[in-house]
Amino acid sequence: MRVAGIVPAAGRGERLGHPVPKALVHVGALPLVVHAIATLMRAGADPVVVAAPPDAIEEVRRRAPRAVVVPGGAHRWESVRLALAAVPADIDAVLVHDAARPLTPDDVVQRVMAALAAGASAAIPALPLADTVKRVDGDGAVVETVDRTTLRAVQTPQGFRRDVLADAHAAADAATLDVTDDAALVEAMGVDVLTVAGDPRAFKVTTPWDLAVAELIWERGMA
Ligand code: C5P
Repeated sequence: MRVAGIVPAAGRGERLGHPVPKALVHVGALPLVVHAIATLMRAGADPVVVAAPPDAIEEVRRRAPRAVVVPGGAHRWESVRLALAAVPADIDAVLVHDAARPLTPDDVVQRVMAALAAGASAAIPALPLADTVKRVDGDGAVVETVDRTTLRAVQTPQGFRRDVLADAHAAADAATLDVTDDAALVEAMGVDVLTVAGDPRAFKVTTPWDLAVAELIWERGMA
C-alpha cells in the first residue's frame, strides 16, 4: 500500500490570537506544521503534501524542505482538495492530518493504517466523550440530554483509500462541503467509515490554553 500524507495547514488560527499563521506557531523547537509532517513521515507517508497559507508558502517550504507545499484555500475542505490534486497517481491511500494536532502519537497513525491495510475504505481515530452532552435551543435552554455512549469525538489523521476520498470530493456540492472533517464527505456518499481508538494527546490546538497544554506535555516528555 503506497500512502501519501495531506496536511491542511492554511487556517489563520484566529482563535489562537497569534500574529503568525497558526501552522508556524511553535510547540517546543518546531512549528505545528513540522510536527504534523514528521508524524506522517514516520509512518511512511511519501510524499506529504502541505496546504499552506498562501502568504506563508516560502516560510513553510523553508521549515519543511522534504514536504510538497501547495497554496491552501479559504476553507479546510478547499485546502484538502488542493493538496489531494498534488498527490501522485500511483498512491493507494491518503492520511489527512490537521497541522493543529502536533502531539498525535505514532500508534494512532498505525491503527488508522492497519485498518486501511485490512480493507477499510476509511478509518478515523475517535474518543468517547467524558462530559454529559445536551442539545440546546437558540436561547441556551436545554432541549434534551443526548446519549453519550453512542457519540465519539473524532481526530486526525483520517485515512482513506485514495479513490474514495477523490470521489467524495468530486461528488460533494458546495453545501455538503461545509463540513469540518473529511470523513463527513465520504459518509455522505454512503461509504462505511470505521473508527479506531484515538488518543487524548491528538487534541487540536485551537486556543491559547490548548497551546499552553501542548507546551507542557512536550516539555514534560509526555508526548
Ligand atoms: O479551523 P480548524 O481548527 O477546523 O482547522 C483544522 C485544520 O484545517 C488546521 O490544521 C487548519 O490549518 C486547516 N485549515 C486549512 N485551510 C483553511 C482552514 C483550516 O488548511 N482554510
